Amino acid sequence: MKNTSNIPAAGWNFDNSYARLPEKFYTKTDPEPARTPELVIFNKELAESLGLDAELLNSDSGAGIFSGTEIPEGAEPIAQAYAGHQFGNFTMLGDGRAVLLGEQLAPDGQRFDIQLKGSGKTAYSRGGDGRAALGPMLREYIISEAMHGLGVPTSRSLAVAVTEIPVVRESFLPGAVLTRVASSHLRFGTFQYAAQWGTFEELKALADYAIERHYPSVKSLENPYLELLKNVISRQAQLVAKWQLTGFIHGVMNTDNMTISGETIDYGPCAFLDTYEPGRVFSSIDHYGRYSYSNQPKITGWNLARFAETLVPLIDKDQEVAVDLAQEALGDFGNQFQQNWMAGMTAKLGLFGNEEGDDALIDDLLKLMHDNKADYTNTFRALTFDKVEDTAFSGKEDFEEWYNAWKSRLDGQPESAEASHILMRNSNPALIPRNHRVESAIEAAVSQQDYSLMEKLVEAVKNPYAHTVEQLEFTDTPTEDEARSFKTYCGT
Ligand code: AMP
Ligand code: MG
Repeated sequence: MKNTSNIPAAGWNFDNSYARLPEKFYTKTDPEPARTPELVIFNKELAESLGLDAELLNSDSGAGIFSGTEIPEGAEPIAQAYAGHQFGNFTMLGDGRAVLLGEQLAPDGQRFDIQLKGSGKTAYSRGGDGRAALGPMLREYIISEAMHGLGVPTSRSLAVAVTEIPVVRESFLPGAVLTRVASSHLRFGTFQYAAQWGTFEELKALADYAIERHYPSVKSLENPYLELLKNVISRQAQLVAKWQLTGFIHGVMNTDNMTISGETIDYGPCAFLDTYEPGRVFSSIDHYGRYSYSNQPKITGWNLARFAETLVPLIDKDQEVAVDLAQEALGDFGNQFQQNWMAGMTAKLGLFGNEEGDDALIDDLLKLMHDNKADYTNTFRALTFDKVEDTAFSGKEDFEEWYNAWKSRLDGQPESAEASHILMRNSNPALIPRNHRVESAIEAAVSQQDYSLMEKLVEAVKNPYAHTVEQLEFTDTPTEDEARSFKTYCGT
């Protein structure tokens, strides 16, 4: 073990429950020290909510910790073992470039994983260098904080530190470490690993651990493992509905990137839709559109089925009975997704409750958006503020027809127009972290060490339902060239 951090009373309050699981689930691994680490961005609000002393840590000593150079008191760094289906193919994975420092108990009693991403090789690195380049770590910081602001369950970003260790990609790039905070890093792939290579007892220990950590109320129910599955199905149905509603494309929905908690994790080739295009794919490696925007709900269902398979031995001694129970639970995923999505869509249109004909109203709007290459976020924003002249289809006959149908549906509900407007404001973000904006913020930071754009962008995306004047600057759509050429990359 390396020297522990010399910052006294920084508020660290570790209790490392995952490290008490059977050793099969992890490998003790210290992060590799950086040369002259420097904090380039630090999330003071998040630090405070974790009970950390933000002022003390937003310093050179904090840079030591958040680059993996110093270990805070009470941390027990480990790399976690997991497997996963990557684009449909099952394989052994594990934290190849991350270490879990430990679990911080926040003042409100909540438990959070504090993970360093990009801090060097581990037992699971295979051919990789265990490192991360600065650009992609800044990208994860921006997008995850934006997702949190949008109200989408997600891991958070506490800090990015540059390491002064160059990372070899197509060229030499500045290296960095991201400190990621999540309610856990238990993945579908953690269960797949246990089911494939663990004993029954090890699988059971993992399931009991996940229940204790995320769904303790199921312990007293008749079949806790079936209830675990049902809870994960519900959380994932809520999550993917939120992705669809905000136009978020994860890009690499492998089972190792899906959490038991229902939080979004592993921001790699993700991006937000500008124009509404259901088949949109941004990722350079997603050649067949497996993880396209419109496929995300279906893929979530597929991933849940892989998770369910791992629980079969726990659900019932009789395999046939267990499979039937699991299948019945999985069968409800589609309905749950649809319900969550519908509730979100009606709110986006200012509708309270759901009436017959709402499906068609929503479908017709989406079709209009698709046909007219309308910007997804800005269209809903224009409807919220009744500025239809700002939409791509203003003045078009079929839009006028849709608009009148929508208005009469709104007029027919008992709630006031004001209440409806407030519902829309709270359901339609002023802005999303648009790809071209994210790229320019990262470019300024990486090439000129100018973090002002990034800070401004993070500030703007933090509270997207505020609809402030400052946010307007970030609502511009990309040029056709920018939109066409934008690609995202994995393994960065
Ligand atoms: P991801 O696409 O980020 O979910 O990563 C998939 C797997 O590749 C995980 O096991 C990662 O830990 C591993 N991995 C990604 N990048 C690297 C790297 N630079 N060095 C070692 N392992 C990596
Ligand atoms: Mg991953």
